Amino acid sequence: MSLKLTIIGSGSAVPTIGRGVTSQYLNFNERRFLIDCGEGTQLQLRKYKVKFQRLQAIFISHLHGDHYLGLVGLLSSMSLLGRTKKLSIYGPSELEELLRIQFKVAAIHFNFELEFIHLEKDVDAIVFEDKIISVRAFPVKHRIACWGFRFDEKKKEKNVNPSKIEEHSLNLEEILAVKRGQDVVREASYLRNEELTLADAKLVSYAFSSDTTYFSKMAEYVSGVDLLYHEATFLEKHADRARATKHSTALQAAQVAKDGGVGKLILGHFSARYKDGQEIEDEAKTIFMNTQAVNDGDEFNL
Ligand SMILES: [Zn+2]
Ligand SMILES: [Zn+2]
Repeated sequence: MSLKLTIIGSGSAVPTIGRGVTSQYLNFNERRFLIDCGEGTQLQLRKYKVKFQRLQAIFISHLHGDHYLGLVGLLSSMSLLGRTKKLSIYGPSELEELLRIQFKVAAIHFNFELEFIHLEKDVDAIVFEDKIISVRAFPVKHRIACWGFRFDEKKKEKNVNPSKIEEHSLNLEEILAVKRGQDVVREASYLRNEELTLADAKLVSYAFSSDTTYFSKMAEYVSGVDLLYHEATFLEKHADRARATKHSTALQAAQVAKDGGVGKLILGHFSARYKDGQEIEDEAKTIFMNTQAVNDGDEFNL
């Protein structure tokens, strides 16, 4: 299983020369996803050499402009450049209405199927799955309806130890049962699953918190992921602003990472009042050491 995350835009509110607004590209074992699509995302995708025609789905966390205003441009370009492959868009229900009216007035005709999947308000649910991965949308707490997304590799069948097959002369039926995680019960013996199988390979996972105020349940939603992106719009000294605008501070993001037992924490969506992400990163590290403030173009491989 391979997971590669590219930070397409790491800023908040307004795109600048140095920092685009929120967007991330995730290649999860050749499933190609875009998470959020702030203004200017298509140029940023070109800059970081992401082939956007290969995207199969776009996940939109909420309808603040810095998370979705790049969509009309990106979809129009996909159409002009001859896309035929279906594209799925996961987002708030109003998003479909917003986009459809823009396409209607501009008489844009798509030669590809545009499928909208509406996220349900306040509902935590698996919204996409195939044989090897699942994507869960979970509600976060922001000024308007907003969701985070969690990408998980699915649990695989158990690997049966070949030497145990021979040792116990396991038949096909028994092997299949062991693969499913069952024990082998025979008249004269009882073989426990753990004795017959090899250790499970580690399952890969990533979570994207989106824009949110601190709330303790977030740690449950992102529990145990290898990599967590959390917004850290403010430093703790501006906690009042964070509360008022329903954003998080670096310390709060780090607390979520610590409580959730995640592997690594990456931070973004910084307020333009800070020169760079260094102070944000330093503050978070006082609680959670394995933290990195991101810049556009950063890549993470699992
Ligand atoms: Zn935002
Ligand atoms: Zn927002």
